[in-house]
Amino acid sequence: MKSHADTIAAIATATGGGIGIVRVSGAQASSIGERVLRPFPSTIAPRVLLHGEVVDGDELIDEVLFVLFRGPRSYTGEDVLEIHAHGGAAGLARVLSATVKAGARVAEPGEFTRRAFLAGRLDLTRAEAVADLIAARDERAARVARAQLGGGVERTVRSLLAPIVNLLAEIEGSIDFPEEDVEVAAIAEQARVVVECGAAIARLASSYARGRLLVEGIDVVLAGRPNAGKSSLVNALAGEERALVDAAPGTTRDVVEVEVDLGGVRARLVDTAGERQSEAGTVEQRGMELGRRRRNLADIVMLVIDGSVGWTATEDKLLAEAGERALIVWNKCDLAPSTDPRAIAVAATRATGLDALRAALLARFVDVSEEATITLTSERQHAALVSAQAALARALPLLDGTRAPELVAMELRTARESLREVLGETATTEVLDRVFARFCIGK
Ligand code: GDP
Repeated sequence: MKSHADTIAAIATATGGGIGIVRVSGAQASSIGERVLRPFPSTIAPRVLLHGEVVDGDELIDEVLFVLFRGPRSYTGEDVLEIHAHGGAAGLARVLSATVKAGARVAEPGEFTRRAFLAGRLDLTRAEAVADLIAARDERAARVARAQLGGGVERTVRSLLAPIVNLLAEIEGSIDFPEEDVEVAAIAEQARVVVECGAAIARLASSYARGRLLVEGIDVVLAGRPNAGKSSLVNALAGEERALVDAAPGTTRDVVEVEVDLGGVRARLVDTAGERQSEAGTVEQRGMELGRRRRNLADIVMLVIDGSVGWTATEDKLLAEAGERALIVWNKCDLAPSTDPRAIAVAATRATGLDALRAALLARFVDVSEEATITLTSERQHAALVSAQAALARALPLLDGTRAPELVAMELRTARESLREVLGETATTEVLDRVFARFCIGK
């Protein structure tokens, strides 16, 4: 990371739009504006969009709109100049190079948001949400990121930090005045705080399992006998022909992957070779081995039954292997209606029952009752919360009235530091480098 004193500049918009924005942030933002923009009022009103031209020396580069934000009332907390130019990549690059000639340095990825974080404009959970929101590829992931950007994780963590800090102060006080006996009732109250905070931290941490799936998408692996209609089902869900469909069994030998949107959640459908007896060492055998490995990694194993054949020993084996991850689908219900009450009935080639199948898949991951609560998506935040929870779990048995209060205090300090780490208050440069490396340039 280069100097924080530099004034930085970058193209803040994706290429290809009708308008592109070059953003400049730092102490020299307005003096750079004076050099590259005309007319640039000597007493410029902040937050007002003005019309002018970008020039590089005597050369006219573009006709633009521009606006100056005075720190600290800006995204980064510094003076920020935004130049709204015509969107072509070459033109924007010329505007950027004019600002660099006038004294700016090209920003590193995420450097604007990093400055906002360092200026205390947002905590690290909100900064990470900015990256999540930009990366969000479906509506549900975007909604989760917006909730975090709105301070959802930050508020929850701060509300847990306060009672722990108070408790720590109380216990540290009893270290200073050991002659005063701590009452039994007071110890019970301290234990209650530890239990409640621990439970709340555990709740937040456990939302990560769901959050991770939202960000990464769900891995759905299709399994079943050859000819059950797995490829047809992939094609039906994807709405296009992606997997090879053939009436001869054993046609899918490699692994086919298709990404589909399941009502706002991304799922990767993985079609694997059908399970059946075949000679060792054949291409089909190797395909089946690959399929087994993929099933082990799956979030969901969609067990496709050939309705015209019914349940066989192969399904028994696949169900035992998949356990709770299995979702049973009765295919070819046009030929034979389902006799399995656990199964979702579909006819892949007629696109029958697909909505119910999508809904059943989604229901495995999206608990509607939890929609409104905060969902964690950052591994960094999750790890820090787990460490805070572990410290509180160690603190609890020490609150029995016989142990030295120093021991409890030590665990509470660990919990406090872990919670502060979630917010980024104790983050090292290395941690910040890692967080902001995910960002694009210009954000
Ligand atoms: P896979 O080996 O499991 O991938 O099965 P395919 O998708 O290649 O399908 C095997 C055969 O079953 C093909 O001839 C499909 O047209 C047929 N098939 C698949 N789904 C259905 C269905 O819902 N109804 C009927 N009648 N035939 C189907």
